[in-house]
Amino acid sequence: MRAGERTLRGLWYDLVARPIDTTPPDRMQLKTILNRIERHRSFVYGEVRLHERMGRAVLDIEMRPRANGRPTCSGCGRRRPGYDTLSPRRFEFVPLWGIAVYFVYAMRRVECPTCGVVVETVPWASGKSQATTTYAWFLARWAKRLSWSEVAEAFQTSWERVFRSVEMAVTWGLAHRDLENVRAIGIDEVLWRKGYKFLTVVYQIDAGVRRLLWVGQDRRAKTLLRFFRSFGRERCARLHFICSDMWQPYLKVIARKAAGAIQVLDRFHIMAHLSKAIDEVRAKEAKSLKAAGYEPVLKGMRFCLLKRPENLSGSQEIKLAELLRYNLRTVRAYLLKEDFQFFWQYVSPAWAGKFLDRWCTRTMRSRLEPMKRVARMLRNHRPLLLNWFRARGEISAAAVEGMNNKLKVTTRKAYGFRTFRALEIALYHSLGHLPEPKITHRFC
Ligand SMILES: [Zn+2]
Repeated sequence: MRAGERTLRGLWYDLVARPIDTTPPDRMQLKTILNRIERHRSFVYGEVRLHERMGRAVLDIEMRPRANGRPTCSGCGRRRPGYDTLSPRRFEFVPLWGIAVYFVYAMRRVECPTCGVVVETVPWASGKSQATTTYAWFLARWAKRLSWSEVAEAFQTSWERVFRSVEMAVTWGLAHRDLENVRAIGIDEVLWRKGYKFLTVVYQIDAGVRRLLWVGQDRRAKTLLRFFRSFGRERCARLHFICSDMWQPYLKVIARKAAGAIQVLDRFHIMAHLSKAIDEVRAKEAKSLKAAGYEPVLKGMRFCLLKRPENLSGSQEIKLAELLRYNLRTVRAYLLKEDFQFFWQYVSPAWAGKFLDRWCTRTMRSRLEPMKRVARMLRNHRPLLLNWFRARGEISAAAVEGMNNKLKVTTRKAYGFRTFRALEIALYHSLGHLPEPKITHRFC
C-alpha cells in the first residue's frame, strides 16, 4: 500500500465518526474528556497526575475555582467572600481503565453574614461525602444489576461505599417520586429473618403499574398505620382498591384509614391458606398410617399435592393419579382445594357467592379440621372475598404474588443485610421504580 492511501475501513470510520473535539490528537488531554462528561460552571480541571498508592494506580485530578469565582456558602447557598482555604480533600470519581480516579480540591471557607465562617459547597459532591455524586450514582446503577458486595468487588471499593451510594439514590428517588396516580394497593407481610421477624410491605398494583411503595418493620396495626400516615389523607381518599390477606390487624386499619376503598382479599393468599391446610392433613395422616403399619403411600407426595395439576411433571402426574385411587383424608382435602379453583373463574359476584356457600357447606361436613378452619375464615370474610370480582381488570392479577417473589430474590441476595435499614434501602432500590436525575453523561 502506498503512503497516503486509505483503506476502505478507515474511510468508513472517518465518515461515521463525528469529531466532538478539535484538539489535535497529540494535545488531546484527559481534561478534554472530563469537560465532556462533567463540566462545572465555576470550576476548572487543573493538573492531572498519575501515581501509585498501596499497589494501585491512582489518577489525581486537581480542581480549581475559576479566576475570581466566589465560593458558595454551604449554609444558605449564596455566593460569599472567601475567608481561607483548607488542606486538599479527595473525592472519588468513576474509575478509568481500572485506575482509581480522584478529584483533589482544597475547600475554601466563606465568611457569610448569616451563617458565619463555614465551608463552601462544591457541585460534584454533597455534604461530607468522600465520593463524587457522579460516582455514587454510578455505583447505585450497578447495584441494581449486581449484589452490593459484587459491586464493591468489581470497582475495588467498600461495601459501605456501595451502601451509602444506594442510600443516596433511594433518598433522592423517594423525594422525587410521583404518588398522585396510585389507585390500587396491595398490602402484605413477609418473613425476612429467622425468629419471626416480619416486614409489612405496600405495593402499588394498578393495572400496568407495579412498584413497592413502602416497607415497615413488623406486621402490627401500628406498622400499617405508619404507612397511611406517610401516604397522606388526600391520597388515601383517592384509593379505589386495597388488596390484602385476612390478617385482622391490617383489615381493621384499612377499614379505618381508607374507608372509601374496596377491600379485596387476594387470590394468592387464599390459595396459600388452602395449601397449608392440605399440608397439615397430609402430615397428620402420614403419621397415623405409619403408626398403623400401612404402606407409606403419602411419602414424597407433598409437592404433587401442593402444585397446580398443570405444573406437574410426567412422573408426578402418575404418582398423583395413583394416590387419588385411595380413599384418604389427604385426597379428600386435595379435591376440595382443586374444586375451589373454579371459584376464580366466575364473572358475576352473585354466582361466585353461591359457589362459595356450597363449597363451604361441603367442606364443613368433611371432618377435615384444617380445611374447615379455612372454610370458616372464608365465610367470615365473604364480602371481601367477592370484591375480588369487582376489582378484576382494575388491578393487575397476581400482582402481590409477583412482587413478593421479586422481594424474596432481593432479600436472598442480601445476606449482607444485618440491619433493617440496609434491607429497606435495597428493597426500595430494586422494587421501587424510583426516578433518577437527568445527567449529561451515562457511564453505564
Ligand atoms: Zn450562608
